[in-house]
Amino acid sequence: MTTKPIAPSGLAPRFWETKPLKAMSRAEWEALCDGCGKCCLNKLEDEDTGEVALTRIACRLFDDATCRCAQYEIRHQFVPECIVLEPKNLDKNLYWMPETCAYKLLHLGKPLYDWHPLISGDPDSVHRAGVSMQNATLPEFEIPEDEWEDHLIEEPV
Ligand code: SF4
Ligand code: SF4
Repeated sequence: MTTKPIAPSGLAPRFWETKPLKAMSRAEWEALCDGCGKCCLNKLEDEDTGEVALTRIACRLFDDATCRCAQYEIRHQFVPECIVLEPKNLDKNLYWMPETCAYKLLHLGKPLYDWHPLISGDPDSVHRAGVSMQNATLPEFEIPEDEWEDHLIEEPV
């Protein structure tokens, strides 16, 4: 569920440190997304433990050159199961969310990393920090599902 990039201009400085997630405007909420692309990866869940592992097999709409959804506005026409994260559904989605995801960090009362574009002022800092999936995924239509476990990634990457 990568969100659409919005320039943080017009947002209050370090608003995420004082404003609860539930009180954020849509622009503030969307600006929290660091653009790592890890929520667009297919996951594998251990049936016994419920533990979730991320694979580098990306959703069919993920463009790993830009590290964004190629059809964000109309994605549900193609991927109806794509989850729309909101303050009210964060709790039930935490189990699969990447450890570095800004929404997860703030929900758990943790600070954002220095490489977060809201702090660095540079949307590419997430890529330079080696945290994103830019140029690092495989398309889901090329890899049979029974081979996904050969492509697990460690977190944080
Ligand atoms: S449709 Fe796929 S690529 Fe687009 S936001 Fe959802 S998971 Fe990511
Ligand atoms: S994992 Fe979180 S921060 Fe990274 S792209 Fe997805 S929503 Fe944005």
